[in-house]
Amino acid sequence: MFCKNCGKEIDDNAIICIHCGVSTNLNRSGAAMYEDGELGCLLGGLCFIAPIAGLILYLVWKDTMPHKAKQAGKWALIGFVANILFSIIYFVGMLGASDLFSYY
Ligand SMILES: [Zn+2]
Repeated sequence: MFCKNCGKEIDDNAIICIHCGVSTNLNRSGAAMYEDGELGCLLGGLCFIAPIAGLILYLVWKDTMPHKAKQAGKWALIGFVANILFSIIYFVGMLGASDLFSYY
């Protein structure tokens, strides 16, 4: 394919033009440029609260919006680790509580 910015021939799978460095969103409109931007707080929070949603977003976006996909994956990972930590704390808390009740 050819770069839409400088018109030089580039690899069909290239994400950015090797000649001018402009992103090659040939199939998409200009609006697509900011779609693959920063992951919003809302979506980041969603990925954090529900890591499985982040994983799905990552899989859906990894080809079309790699930057966003990476952030979704990162938040999903952080959320996943946090969920495990919370589960452990909750579990330990429950054990502590049951010990407390056993005194009665
Ligand atoms: Zn170019």
